[in-house]
Amino acid sequence: MTITLRADASCDEGRPAAVPPVGRASDADVQVWTQALCQLQRRPDDTLAISVNLPFCAMRCGYCSSDVQVTTDGREVDMYLDALLLQMDGVVALAGREREVVQVHVGGGTPNLLADAQLERLVAGLRARFRLLPETEWSIECDPRRCSAGQFDTLRRLGFRHLHLGMADLDADVQRASGRIQSASVMADVVAMARHARFETVQVDLVCGLPRQTEARRRPGTSSRSPPMPCRPA
Ligand code: SF4
Repeated sequence: MTITLRADASCDEGRPAAVPPVGRASDADVQVWTQALCQLQRRPDDTLAISVNLPFCAMRCGYCSSDVQVTTDGREVDMYLDALLLQMDGVVALAGREREVVQVHVGGGTPNLLADAQLERLVAGLRARFRLLPETEWSIECDPRRCSAGQFDTLRRLGFRHLHLGMADLDADVQRASGRIQSASVMADVVAMARHARFETVQVDLVCGLPRQTEARRRPGTSSRSPPMPCRPA
């Protein structure tokens, strides 16, 4: 069973609440989430996969429909981490500590918006509460525009083995229309850094259906009069 950890990212009403992974959760949402955890109690041999959502970005990409908060204020992230740790306590209270965790995925938002100390606090919080094994698969999503060799070293030291890099599209025209600018050379440098840091896998995430994406741009050499790619907007 996969448990998603996500607190309420909106800090405008003070300290964010630890809630089920649906943003501003209703009482009914809380009840459904709690019932799912109680089912786990009845299946003590089931393993657990944990998905942690860090819904913060430095700026919003033009095509993004995710529930993210645009901020670079580390205090807001700290408050969110406070709430996440509380939520972990709630999960452990219902699901127990002895269950093996086979996978931890940290996604966003932009997880690598967090400072090293914040990432360390998150991972320490997980390790203190859940039964994580040497073979547990750790993966994280990163924005290439915020990656550095030092950050990758931190992630590897914390146990992350699989890296997801958001690329969307490398075409300059598509990037301008989409409000997400990142050059091919930045991507190449970041992939080289990731290999140097010895991540076991490096996944590059593309987005289909962006403004000005066409079949011709996707397949160099085909007609530039091809219709826009009939894919869903991200
Ligand atoms: S970085 Fe990802 S999550 Fe953040 S605004 Fe852009 S597409 Fe959305």
